[in-house]
Amino acid sequence: MRFFSSSVARCATALLLTCGSLLPAARAQAPKTYTSSEILLGLKKLNVLGSVMYMAAHPDDENTRLIAYMANGRLLETGYLSCTRGDGGQNLIGPELREGLGVIRTQELLAARRIDGGRQFFTRANDFGFSKTAEETFTIWDKEQVLADMVWVIRQRRPDVLITRFPPDARAGHGHHTASAILAAEAFDAAGTRNGSPSSSSTCRCGSPSACSGTPAPFS
Ligand SMILES: [Zn+2]
Repeated sequence: MRFFSSSVARCATALLLTCGSLLPAARAQAPKTYTSSEILLGLKKLNVLGSVMYMAAHPDDENTRLIAYMANGRLLETGYLSCTRGDGGQNLIGPELREGLGVIRTQELLAARRIDGGRQFFTRANDFGFSKTAEETFTIWDKEQVLADMVWVIRQRRPDVLITRFPPDARAGHGHHTASAILAAEAFDAAGTRNGSPSSSSTCRCGSPSACSGTPAPFS
């Protein structure tokens, strides 16, 4: 009995020491707490079923006022899909370039969505730097793969409306921008067809949004 008691005591001591060593990590991962206004907003959003997906090419292409308005003003489920992670941008405040810069800009977008209430999505398109035309962009992007990624996001989130940040022509000013609008329009149609992007049709339901629109003028 004494042996049993001492064994139990040793186990308890070891458990306490183990738990004690884990406590700092546990505190570091404490669940997010919500303010009363955030809880009220969440409750209001339960009564709104609409959703919108905004599509462009790079981190910082998005109009955060539009996302904030859709997510918090109109109470819609709001997503932003950036085709790239911004690897090809310039960095004036640090040494990170290419993949390192893409990691930073990915985190910047995720942080922005935590503020404006949107959800963030990406495709596998590579930001290889400035491109004059969509035709040039599609010589480097694997168009079918990027299209498949966009279709997958549409089928997963099933937005009611797609909004493209740029027009599908030279007015977009950058080949990636033009390509993002061209692909968004193609993804809009392909998401609703069984043979559109077969790689995702087996894992999520087909269905196109109800409408596809450019960014409303007041927000451009
Ligand atoms: Zn851009």
